[in-house]
Amino acid sequence: MVAYSLPELPYDYSALEPHISARIMELHHSKHHQAYVDGANGALAAMAEARESGQLGAINKLEKDLAFHLGGHVNHSIFWTNLQGHGAATPEGEIASAIDEYFGSYEGFQAHFTAAAMGIQGSGWAVCSWDPIGKQLIIQQLFDQQANTAQGTTPVLQLDMWEHAFYLDYQNVKGDYVKAFWNIVNWENVAARFDAARESSGNAMLVS
Ligand code: MN
Repeated sequence: MVAYSLPELPYDYSALEPHISARIMELHHSKHHQAYVDGANGALAAMAEARESGQLGAINKLEKDLAFHLGGHVNHSIFWTNLQGHGAATPEGEIASAIDEYFGSYEGFQAHFTAAAMGIQGSGWAVCSWDPIGKQLIIQQLFDQQANTAQGTTPVLQLDMWEHAFYLDYQNVKGDYVKAFWNIVNWENVAARFDAARESSGNAMLVS
């Protein structure tokens, strides 16, 4: 049983240059993301085997493996589509109004998201998510691939702050990587995710 597979990128590896190099994109997609896909499939297969044999002693380890690797698969699948190589853009329409409403201004949102990204201790992600309980957008720091975010929040925009995402291009100057990120955000994708999140996850969370 193979549950997960590596999605194609919606653009060439070189499409995000000069902000993210083709070499980083190739390694990041074909090696790192592939490893999360393989890890998630491996954890599921081992769980099925454990159920069949009744040998459930490794379940704690397997649950941690699944959270980490499936987290990695989900995070990268979203991240690739959050990016585009057609030149700098800013949010428009409802997503722009929502950012103003929940964060005061686009500049305030950018500064908050940037600080969250820059402040991550260790490996992780900055994430802007729809919170269906508060019915609002919030910014979260996601540690590793799976920790420090609330259940049920739906990511609409996220930035990979693992060193593998930027080190070849930016070495230790991660502030320049975050600055470059703002030039390649695919706001149409963020807006589509915002619409879908408000329609679906909200309903699921609010069942009583
Ligand atoms: Mn990554």
